[in-house]
Amino acid sequence: MQSKVEAPCPQCHDEGSLSMLALNSEIPYFGEHTQITVMCDSCGWKHTDFIPSDGEKPGFSSIVVDSAEKTTARVVRSSSCTIRIPELDLEVSPGGSSSGYVTNIEGVIKRFEEAIMTVIRGNEDPGAGQIAEQILERLGLAKSGDEEIRVDLLDPRGRSQIIHKDAESRELSEIEEEGLETGPDVPVFEMG
Ligand SMILES: [Zn+2]
Repeated sequence: MQSKVEAPCPQCHDEGSLSMLALNSEIPYFGEHTQITVMCDSCGWKHTDFIPSDGEKPGFSSIVVDSAEKTTARVVRSSSCTIRIPELDLEVSPGGSSSGYVTNIEGVIKRFEEAIMTVIRGNEDPGAGQIAEQILERLGLAKSGDEEIRVDLLDPRGRSQIIHKDAESRELSEIEEEGLETGPDVPVFEMG
């Protein structure tokens, strides 16, 4: 169902150019949820998010990736979710234009690789490039399950989850929650 949104675009601040598409669907083991996409006709800004129907999920979801099979574990990542790979000291936090997506562990690793490559291209320092190359090599091995890494999702809004029988979920501790960003403020997402 598509509807107009009575709010200015967070990017271009145009009035009356936002519309919202809400779809109810079900992801096995994540459960029924509403996928909401908000689009701006003026500047092309687009934002997707997932709102679980049965209330919030535990804020912390984690898996040790030590086999190729585990790289296929499904990942639902909402716009308020921080992703960490502690072994490699990597973190992606939501930021102001973060959008939600559904992927698997391999897809998460690819996104880290792309982010690192963007950093390498913008950096002249050969020392930094060397460290980045080493991280890329280990991520490459992790994608085939040959380098053991842990992937953590931290979502203070409880809308993200790793779906696998060996994934662990728990509530976030207060200390963990304190330092986390919650992503862009899109008014319509607060209805759910
Ligand atoms: Zn706009």
